[in-house]
Amino acid sequence: MEIAPHVHLLEETKGSYVYVILGQEPVLIDTFFPGKIDRVIAGLDRIGLKPTDIAHILLTHSDVDHIGNAKRLRELSRATLWAPREELAYLYHEQKDHGVRRIIRALMKVDKPAIDRTYDSWEYISDLELIPTPGHTPGHVSIRYQDVLIAGDLVTTRKGKLKRSPGLLTWNQQALQQSLQEVGKHSFDWICPAHGDPIQRGNLWETLLS
Ligand SMILES: [Zn+2]
Repeated sequence: MEIAPHVHLLEETKGSYVYVILGQEPVLIDTFFPGKIDRVIAGLDRIGLKPTDIAHILLTHSDVDHIGNAKRLRELSRATLWAPREELAYLYHEQKDHGVRRIIRALMKVDKPAIDRTYDSWEYISDLELIPTPGHTPGHVSIRYQDVLIAGDLVTTRKGKLKRSPGLLTWNQQALQQSLQEVGKHSFDWICPAHGDPIQRGNLWETLLS
């Protein structure tokens, strides 16, 4: 589904959506649940792409449903794999998660990918703007392309409603609130979360902050 010009949602990855942006260079954002790479590849195929067409793979954060196929997709595509520096310790299990996230990570085994680059300068990768949005996890990032915000797990949508990411999985509520305020200052029309369908902004962002 093309949400806005050059921004594709891979329907095959319902449950934790993967997005493809065909701007200056083809970019894949997040990589779906482990062991389900076939869904990502089917989605790419549907929009006329092979893994080798992808130039960059961007991870919004290190939760298993976002990094699940990063290792294999990096190998197949030879794309540059990017991740938040603050998430590397979790990604490589050098630092233990707590609560629910620890259980999820223990249950869902992921082949750990080699990360090529980390987001250090908070600028642009190709024509995509990186916005640091800690809260759900320490290093979570959101990505803006033209009128579209790829929100990762900063927010979710359900039945036409926009919600902040669930409290149970939130690393730091205060940081999340601050990130929501910061992102709200940016201009975009579409909000594309991993969980739930894309939604038009309208005045929905304001409802999140109240
Ligand atoms: Zn997450």
